[in-house]
This record gives sequence, structure tokens and C-alpha cells, in this order.
Amino acid sequence: MTVSIVDLLRDRIPPQQVIEDPAVLTAHATDASRAPAARAAVLARPASTAEVAAVVQVAASAGIPIVPQGGRSGLVGGSAAIDGAILLDLTGLDRILSIDSVDRVAVVQPGVIVADLQRAVAEHGLFYAPDPASADRATIGGTIGTNAGGMRCIKYGVTRDAVRSLEVVLADGTVERTRPATVKGVAGLDLTSLIVGSEGTLAVVTEATLALHPAPGPSRGVCATFPDAASAFEAANTIATGERLPSALEFLDEVALRGVRIIRPDLGIPEDARAWLLVVTDAHVGGSADLDHFEAAVREHGALTIARAEHPAALDELFAARRSLNAALIAVRSGTTHGDLAVPRSQLPAFAVGAERIRERLGVEISLAGHVGDGNLHPTVVFDGDDQLAVEAAHRAERELLELAQQLGGTIAGEHGIGTVKLDGLVGESSPRIRDLQRRIKAVFDPHGILNPGRKI
Ligand SMILES: Cc1cc2nc3c(=O)[nH]c(=O)nc-3n(C[C@H](O)[C@H](O)[C@H](O)COP(=O)(O)OP(=O)(O)OC[C@H]3O[C@@H](n4cnc5c(N)ncnc54)[C@H](O)[C@@H]3O)c2cc1C
Repeated sequence: MTVSIVDLLRDRIPPQQVIEDPAVLTAHATDASRAPAARAAVLARPASTAEVAAVVQVAASAGIPIVPQGGRSGLVGGSAAIDGAILLDLTGLDRILSIDSVDRVAVVQPGVIVADLQRAVAEHGLFYAPDPASADRATIGGTIGTNAGGMRCIKYGVTRDAVRSLEVVLADGTVERTRPATVKGVAGLDLTSLIVGSEGTLAVVTEATLALHPAPGPSRGVCATFPDAASAFEAANTIATGERLPSALEFLDEVALRGVRIIRPDLGIPEDARAWLLVVTDAHVGGSADLDHFEAAVREHGALTIARAEHPAALDELFAARRSLNAALIAVRSGTTHGDLAVPRSQLPAFAVGAERIRERLGVEISLAGHVGDGNLHPTVVFDGDDQLAVEAAHRAERELLELAQQLGGTIAGEHGIGTVKLDGLVGESSPRIRDLQRRIKAVFDPHGILNPGRKI
């Protein structure tokens, strides 16, 4: 009699944490990308590092793939099911183990929701900087898996910059710590950085020691509209290269503003505005002077309107247009692609020109909203979802936008990852030698290819 994978898992972790209910498997089949997913064999919901290790040991001995899953808010299919795989739901490891004000670190399990950690450390007068827009759903493990970004990266960097040390379960089921959690430490190769952003292909993160900052000052900002995108990019570059570093620098283009006018007419976006910038500071001291500096820069570059928020509640109102972006684009057209790419900030104007050429040639509409402060755009092609030709043109435009980013010295994946959705684009991203090196590194970590195979590289 052959023993099923379900029985093997139930021998190692509490049986109720091994789930084969088809409804549960369907609910966990894909992520927010809705990337097509295959049928997993089973879902395991461990509650401790030891249980994660036990699941990985079962997978290793049976040669079955494992798909680590956090909040499944990913946008590239990285946690979507693989045929016959074990879905490793890490949301049960959801404890904040310690918050240390002296070392300024938090030790957390991977299933902790990012926003919960932000709130918990704020009670200690501390600040966890990574802040993807999905912070209410994304987990620490998932954001480490994708090296998530967000709006504050211009000042605080990406998730990798906040990760001091990781406890991981390796592909053979052993538990290891990547490095001591000191600020400095250069012994050996930096495997922590390698595992951050590896999308579950090298190891399963079971605990993270995360760097914290002192609580920032009150957020305030300047919001401006412009007659064209080029003026907004110039203003953004003046601000980003100036002596006063903003904590966020966000951009909306003409298509996005059209949608914002539809769903939020109360925000009074002027009819002749074709671009929008929001510049934020969270400085403790000199915040008003920062605003003066930002205001002067947007004025110098021909802003049509300028609004200034001197305290967080007022800033919240200025943020409304940016927060409504996804709904705004759907208001323009029923179908939208999910774009994420990055170019050197100096190349943003060239990217906009190239995108305009793609728009004209393919007859599509493209929104270029995003985090201009670090050159990370979310170009979105909006299209009529019922029109097959429009759908095809949109997907072609999406591919060409990614190629354009690569031609300008940029990347097809700024912060959302590669998963399965963007694998094809890797051909133009790195040389065959570099890709081969990456595959060989994967093989060292995971010789039998059980950890999230077919993703990332
Ligand atoms: C509305 C919305 C807004 C978003 N905004 C942003 C944004 O501003 N910035 C941004 O960067 N992203 C954003 N995203 C994308 C997404 O939220 C991020 O990619 C996030 O990091 C995914 O976290 P998750 O917990 O949902 O992980 P999942 O989607 O479950 O997994 C993501 C990847 O990490 C791996 N993984 C998960 N847990 C572990 C673990 N413990 N160990 C090893 N690997 C693991 C998975 O296998 C997968 O490859 C947004 C998504 C949505 C839906």
C-alpha cells in the first residue's frame, strides 16, 4: 500500500493543519495576479519553525514541490499553486516575538501582517519603514520573499534594507540562521541579501530580525499639478537631487487624472492638468523649510496648482488622488494590466517619450503613474475588456513597455517580482552567463528543485 503525501504530513504535524478540502485548495490556488494556477495536492498550515521543517522534510523525501504562501497579495503568480505541490501557508506563524528599543530591531515570524508590525513598533516610538500599498494584507515573509517596496523607498530603501538576519528552513528541512543581527557584519557571503527577494526559491523564511528607525516626524507635503508629464518629471528630478530628501515622491499622469476626475470630482483636479506630483517630508526638524523647498521646485517647473499640507490630516486629503489610482484606471476602461518596472530616474523623460510612441503605434492608452522618486513606475495599459483586439494590443504594449525599460538601462521588475508572469522578460534582462550562475546558485540551495520551482529565475 502506498502512503499518500497527506498521511506523511499528518504523521509529522497536527492532522487538522493538513488540509485537502478542494474548496480550501481552490481558495489558495493563486495570488492577486490571478495568474493561472495548477492543482496543488494539499495545503499545510504549520504553526512553528519545527513544523515548517517537518513539512519541508516530507516534501524533500517525497520529491514534491513546495509553494510558500504569505498573504497571497503578490502580483506575479509567485505563490500560485503548482501541480501536485504542497502549499505551505505561513500565515499561522504570526507572532511578533520581540521589539528591542536598544538594538532597534523587531524579531517576527513570517506570517505577521506588515501593518500590524508597523502599529506594534509605533507603540514603542519606533518605525518599520517598508510600506507596500498592500501593508494591510501582505506578510513579513511575503514582503521578504519579493523584497517589497512602496512609497517610502526614496528615503528608507526597500525591504532588503530592513532585514538584519533570517532564520530559514533549507531545502533538506534543516533550520539555519543566516548571520548575527548586528548592524555591521561582513563575515562570509551575504546570504541574507540573497534570500531576500528570492521568492521562496532558495529557502523558507521562518523568522526575521528587522531593523527599526526612530519614529519619524509628522508627515506633511506639497501636491502640484502640471500641464504635461515632462514638467512634472523635471520638478521630481530637481527635488530628488536636492539637499532635502523627501520621504515620498509620487506621480500620476494624464490617464490616471482622467480617472480620478471621474471617481473623485470633489478633489477638483483641474481640466488642463496632465500630470500630478505629491512630495512628502517626515522630518522632525525643518519640515516647513522642506515644504518651501518643494514648493519652489514645482513652481519653477511650471506647476498649474500647488496645495500645501502642513499636518498629517491635511496630507491625507492630498493623498486621496494617489490612493484612488486603481479604481480611477478601471473607471477609464474596464480592463487594466499590472505594470511594474524601474528605470534610472534620469531616464524617466525618455521612458515617457518611448511610451508615447508605443501608445500611438498600437492605439492603446497607457497610464504612467508610480514612485518617480526612485524611478519605479507602474505603467498600466487600460483597455476595453470585451474587445479581443484591444486585449491583444494591451498585452503587446505591456511587453514593449518592459523592453523599453530594459533598453533604457532599467528592469522589468521594480518591486513586484518575477513569479511566473514575467519569466519571459528575463531573456532581455541579464546575460545567459548571469542567468546560468543564478540557476547554479539555486541548485546549491535546492539540489532537487523542490522550493517554488519554475519561478523567479
Ligand atoms: C493592492 C495591492 C497593492 C500592492 N502594493 C505594493 C507596493 O506598494 N509595493 C510592493 O512591493 N508590492 C505591492 N504589492 C504586491 C504584494 O503585496 C507584494 O509583492 C508583497 O510582498 C506580497 O506579500 P504576501 O505576504 O502577500 O506574499 P505572497 O504573495 O503570498 O508571496 C510572495 C512571494 O514570496 C514567497 N514567500 C511568501 N512567504 C514566504 C516565506 N515565509 N519564505 C520564503 N518565501 C516566501 C512566495 O512563495 C512568493 O514567491 C501590492 C499588491 C496589491 C494587491
